[in-house]
Amino acid sequence: MTMQSAKPRAKRILMIGAPGAGKGTQAGLIAEQFGIAHIASGDLLRRHITEGTTTGRTVEGYVNKGELVPDAIIMDMLRKPVMAASEAGGYVLDGFPRTVEQAEAAYRTAGSLGVGVQIAIHLDVPEDELIRRMLARARGADDTEDVIRHRINVYEQKTRPLLDYYAQRELLIQVNGARPVSEVTWSIVVQLQRAFKRPPALDQMQLTADRAVA
Ligand code: AMP
Repeated sequence: MTMQSAKPRAKRILMIGAPGAGKGTQAGLIAEQFGIAHIASGDLLRRHITEGTTTGRTVEGYVNKGELVPDAIIMDMLRKPVMAASEAGGYVLDGFPRTVEQAEAAYRTAGSLGVGVQIAIHLDVPEDELIRRMLARARGADDTEDVIRHRINVYEQKTRPLLDYYAQRELLIQVNGARPVSEVTWSIVVQLQRAFKRPPALDQMQLTADRAVA
């Protein structure tokens, strides 16, 4: 399996949303609907922590405090699964990128190999609803009210700017995530089907041209 053989028609979707917006749930359902992989950076990190791997011990403090894990660790952890999924038909990436810097780093490494992002979905949910949902599900050490509020602040400061980043590249789909799960899924599927029929955005055409020259 070589990197260059990544299928150009692979569906490559990003799910962006604040903690509690329903990213994981929707990413899983969308992946199932399109028969592609669901890759969740938070789930992979939590698995490392539970299994007590070297990575797990390094990231535990960050995750429990709701801080972002250093980029290099995240990139190393995701490289293989993202490449493999891209070969196999595509992915819904949930929780990465978390910052414009991560998006740029991913664009540099994955973009020129044809495994860059094709479409980003923003799940929009008001803050009071986010907090209500997060407290109701209380998953672990990062789900106390203080940490939840901190995670929402980190999202507002570091992740929200990504929305402009993708909107400027005409790659962003906006979805109202404060509705019942099945309605949100339906709205995403309809918009994705429409988007997959559109000609590729300029960015993607540029990448294709770069590949043809390389
Ligand atoms: P999530 O399940 O996506 O909400 O992620 C849980 C936690 O994992 C976050 O609060 C961060 O500590 C860490 N994390 C997940 N994805 C990333 C990422 N792309 N960059 C940095 N930290 C991350």
